[in-house]
Amino acid sequence: ALLAENINVTFGTTQALKNVTLRVDKGEMVALIGPSGSGKSTLLRVSAGLQLADSTSGASRIFGDRVQEKGKLSPGVRRARAKVGFIFQQFNLVKRISLYSNVLIGALGRMPGWQGVMGRFSPEDRKKAMDSLERVGIAEYAGNRAANLSGGQQQRGAIARAMVQGAQAIFADEPIASLDPVSARNVMRLLAELNEQDGITVVVTLHQVDYALKYCRRAVALKAGEIIYDGPTSGLTRDKLIEIYGDEYIGVL
Ligand code: ATP
Ligand code: MG
Repeated sequence: ALLAENINVTFGTTQALKNVTLRVDKGEMVALIGPSGSGKSTLLRVSAGLQLADSTSGASRIFGDRVQEKGKLSPGVRRARAKVGFIFQQFNLVKRISLYSNVLIGALGRMPGWQGVMGRFSPEDRKKAMDSLERVGIAEYAGNRAANLSGGQQQRGAIARAMVQGAQAIFADEPIASLDPVSARNVMRLLAELNEQDGITVVVTLHQVDYALKYCRRAVALKAGEIIYDGPTSGLTRDKLIEIYGDEYIGVL
């Protein structure tokens, strides 16, 4: 399981996370929702060890490997992180190199130490890169520079890279926030497909609740650094959503 246990994060006078505990079991697809500034990104980043929690915190783990504890990175953090593919709102791919090279980079995540730095890709890695590009539907753009791809194509490239990495989980922070509705749907479908068919655990932060309702069975809602809902997306009634988002939600109805 993915686990963040008793996590506190303080920025100056802001308590971004207040003793948050989140457990995500293998094979789940969970939406992290909540208003802007509620701590969604912070929770994802702390879970992956991209950010340190306060020393008053417990630990975070990724499928058994400890990431951090009491605000200190654990020795196994690299091994833990290699199990996760990251997708962000933007800046997902190295813009100046080809889509294919970007996807091949995923294989570095599976190589230990120097071998990875030297970038010795095996024929299997190369085949896997092309197969993954086929799978996400953008093989025809393999030779294009990442900079010349659309936002949706870049997100699919990031997903292909996670597949080459052999990621057991995908952490996606607002992966569809800057996409048009069609590309957004395609990216969410792809994440759902990897979850269902390949058993990849997905944790995805979403601004739009509609997408959480459509693609995720479980939702975790943060508000001001605390989890105020954790349950089936079907339990997100209008009243619950107003409790989570306040007046902001009424505006988007
Ligand atoms: P959004 O929906 O806008 O992405 P979020 O739920 O992801 O918001 P976070 O980015 O996790 O929210 O931020 C939680 C709180 O911590 C906010 O009050 C934010 O201003 C603060 N915060 C986050 N990162 C930092 C930082 N590096 N330095 C200072 N404050 C930060
Ligand atoms: Mg965020």
